[in-house]
Amino acid sequence: MSKRVAVVTGGIGGLGTEICKALAQAGRTVIAVDLDSREERVASFKQEMEGHDVHFAEADVADYQSCGALVRDIESRHGSLDILVNNAGITRDSTLRKMDRGQWDAVLDVNLGSAFNLCGHAVAGMQARGFGRVVNISSVSGQTGNFGQTNYAAAKAGLHGFTMSLAREVATKGITVNSVSPGYIETAMTGAMPTEVLTKITATIPAGRMGKPNDIARTVAFLTDDAAGYITGANVPVNGGLFMSF
Ligand code: NAP
Repeated sequence: MSKRVAVVTGGIGGLGTEICKALAQAGRTVIAVDLDSREERVASFKQEMEGHDVHFAEADVADYQSCGALVRDIESRHGSLDILVNNAGITRDSTLRKMDRGQWDAVLDVNLGSAFNLCGHAVAGMQARGFGRVVNISSVSGQTGNFGQTNYAAAKAGLHGFTMSLAREVATKGITVNSVSPGYIETAMTGAMPTEVLTKITATIPAGRMGKPNDIARTVAFLTDDAAGYITGANVPVNGGLFMSF
């Protein structure tokens, strides 16, 4: 069997980098897709990935046409697109009263619209080949809501509705679709939060600490394994116990 080909959007970001590494270590050919192709940032990403079968491609996941071109290019260069990790995400926090339409649209487009844009182009090939793994990176905020995040929480909750619906549509075709909901993980995204806020939040996490990017990466590697074919439509919380449900 040829190597599985994996796409990780937001692949050069905090979680994306670790996910790329974990999938490459699991024997996948990995394409890190990101908006930002600034030479310096991509060069340092490539350096970190040295020795791994990881490539870089630039695309805007909020743009339907750009996602179509990306999927076609990967399928023709690498032969298939077997694993899709919709990880690119942004925040534009504000209370609803102060939020403008631009903040709403940007967050919905990048965090939720991207799943439609990429799955919409990638699923046909997966169905034809009889194998696929889709993982959508959601958030604990989508499960609990969060002050100042009506846009982000709506997008992340919507992602799980998308996950469950698509999972039903493709379950007989060897394709699984799941979401992963990280709690607070040590990346630039949380690094931008005020220290006193993070200290307060950490005090409420049963595990007593924030998560590491690798906590998420290992979960994605597990869900995208060939052997994980009976897990679909699930949401896997990786949050140190911050939010528990069944
Ligand atoms: P990050 O470091 O900011 O990485 C996100 C990446 O997505 C960045 O490289 C960003 O590029 C890229 N991106 C943004 N807009 C894009 C677009 N339109 N097209 C393509 N790429 C785009 O954030 P992270 O912490 O790794 O988060 C990864 C995912 O986990 C996100 O979906 C986030 O919502 C979710 N999450 C994170 C946490 C956490 O604690 N970190 C918790 C819960 C959920 P630029 O840097 O150029 O914008």
